[in-house]
Amino acid sequence: MNPTPPVTAPALRPDSRLQFLPGIGPKRTLLFERLGLVTLEHLVRHYPRTWLDARRFVTVSALRPGELLTVTGAVRRAATLRGRGGRTDLVVSVADSTGTVGCVFFGQPFLARALRPGVRVVLSGEVDALERRMVNPMFEIVEGDLESLLHAGRLVPVHALTRGITARGMRAAVRRALDQVGAAIGDPIPAEVASARGLALLATALDHVHFPPDETALARARERLAFEELFLLQSVMEIRRRVLREEANGLASAGPGDLVARVRAALPFTLTADQDRALAEIAADLAAPRPMHRMLIGDVGSGKTIVALLAALQVIEAGRQVAFMAPTEILARQHAATLARFAAPANVPIAALTAATPVPERRRLRAALAAGEPLLVVGTHALLEAKVEMPRLGLAVVDEQHRFGVGQRSALARKGALPDVLVLTATPIPRTLALAWYGDLDTSTLRARPAGRGRLVTRVTGEEKFPQVIDFMAKEIEQGRQAFVVVPAIEESPGAEMRAAEAEFERLRAHPRLAPYRVGLLHGRLKPEAKQEVMEAFAAGGIAVLVATTVVEVGVDIPNATVMVVEQADRFGLTQLHQLRGRVGRGAHRSVCVLIAGVAATAHGRERLAEMAKTDDGFVLAEADLRLRGPGELWGTRQSGLPRLKLADFFRDGDLLLAARDAAREVVARDPRLAEPGHARLRETLMLHYREALELALAG
Ligand code: ADP
Ligand code: MG
Repeated sequence: MNPTPPVTAPALRPDSRLQFLPGIGPKRTLLFERLGLVTLEHLVRHYPRTWLDARRFVTVSALRPGELLTVTGAVRRAATLRGRGGRTDLVVSVADSTGTVGCVFFGQPFLARALRPGVRVVLSGEVDALERRMVNPMFEIVEGDLESLLHAGRLVPVHALTRGITARGMRAAVRRALDQVGAAIGDPIPAEVASARGLALLATALDHVHFPPDETALARARERLAFEELFLLQSVMEIRRRVLREEANGLASAGPGDLVARVRAALPFTLTADQDRALAEIAADLAAPRPMHRMLIGDVGSGKTIVALLAALQVIEAGRQVAFMAPTEILARQHAATLARFAAPANVPIAALTAATPVPERRRLRAALAAGEPLLVVGTHALLEAKVEMPRLGLAVVDEQHRFGVGQRSALARKGALPDVLVLTATPIPRTLALAWYGDLDTSTLRARPAGRGRLVTRVTGEEKFPQVIDFMAKEIEQGRQAFVVVPAIEESPGAEMRAAEAEFERLRAHPRLAPYRVGLLHGRLKPEAKQEVMEAFAAGGIAVLVATTVVEVGVDIPNATVMVVEQADRFGLTQLHQLRGRVGRGAHRSVCVLIAGVAATAHGRERLAEMAKTDDGFVLAEADLRLRGPGELWGTRQSGLPRLKLADFFRDGDLLLAARDAAREVVARDPRLAEPGHARLRETLMLHYREALELALAG
């Protein structure tokens, strides 16, 4: 299994390329590269996705269907069979003293070379209940003892593969790589941390994660390697935090407070106690020289916007610029209008910079910003363009943060010296994920919603009730109210959502019950000006029913709208539905959210909708979503720029994450530039994986 390399071969090192590994030529190297595996260390670090427990050895006569079992026997017959579609299968029978079991290997005639009659094998697999044979079992040819099994009769690792690399080929390659360089891989975890935590040796952990002798060893190996991932991540966070705190002083933005006072006095409502408290917390951060990194958490409709505006005014008063960033064009426009209305008493000009901003206006605005004028500019990602210079950026407000990736957030932050950052979110972020994302993040929470809101009820129904839904909608419109109709989320094919919206728009427009009213259409593919026109008409009451895609999901604020109809609601996530529902119930009138289950809705899908009717607590729904769909969906971690963790899991490994954070803190506190010899490998690893994030911090 482990051929000793010929004496002339150069010694292999962890960074040697895979083609130098015995058994892998230049051609297979290319296949491995498709998986991102270029060096031997990469291969050793290509951890299994899961492990199959094939340790139950039985006699052939004791094989039972539906269980992963292992037998040892001799190959009796082996024959290739031409299957359908030109495929050739291999059929083999294996016998021990108690009986014979048949096996079929689909499309793998080449296995005939190994599975010759007379050969002794260990076979692991499930017996088919009908034909009583094993389909594609795992197997290993054995000569002597069963000590060094790789492919069967053990905890068998299952690695990610690619076309042209079989599970067996991968296991064999990993085994060889481990034998060649497993012990030579440098440990990025400093010795003091490893010994304080009693971590397993890296070489042992690497060996055991691929080929665990038992569950205990696997758990220990997994923990060791998961800790390493989290420790590296937390070290980066920690270094960045220190740099932010110590080297570059943040901005202290405080003024006499006249602007804030004037705007507050003119508000058509008084702030809730929660809003007041949140504002005080933010104001104190803004006034302090330390850069703020705060998240304002409040369920949909809790009134985050005004809090952010008042915070912004404090910064404007101090002579700095504020960037207010929204995830969609529509929301950016709406924010610009709302902020302008609220800020009017303070005479603060609010500028909008979006795709809909006419070019001359845009140019003028960019020049003003570049000149350092203290402006509050509202926009979308357009604000992130390098062309937009904000040399006096004092505060970046990021609305509905989960829609943005980490990269985008830091791009915004880079524009200023070290601006304060305030992120607004309706989806509470779990503490562990916040830690992983930001190292540490301060939070302010709006719990109570403003008083004086009409009741909001949620009804779940089926498509057969559509006439009644239309009827109800028409009655509300007769009362002067407005309605949203949201078409299903269709992610599979581009443009499908738009077509669904257009079809629904035509259907409603032709509906006799809605004949007297104007129906509007809104989807992401409309031109920015068209979107703006539709939203303005809806806000002004000219449009009675707005047929929309999920572009209205976040933030849209039309207090007169009282009906939200979501079609094929089972296609949405709970958090998304909660956001949609949050578009109504914003005024004094009673509102209704109607969730229509699609005809194809599963029992599970209907159950989730029932959950929606039961609670209007966004936190409860976010947690349910997290369980059902995982953090990637909910937080957009996929595009977030977070490194893909291979073994660690932000949620399951919460305790490990905290321990990693503490360890990273200690190391970085003692040796901020990782200059000690004992930290050389850590430094090297961080530079390899997080170069951009660290260049500034570790330079010199
Ligand atoms: P969200 O937190 O979902 O972003 P918004 O900031 O859009 O919520 O606020 C929702 C609505 O509540 C807006 O129409 C806003 O003007 C209003 N609002 C905010 N604060 C209060 C308050 N203290 N009293 C009454 N209405 C408020
Ligand atoms: Mg909002």
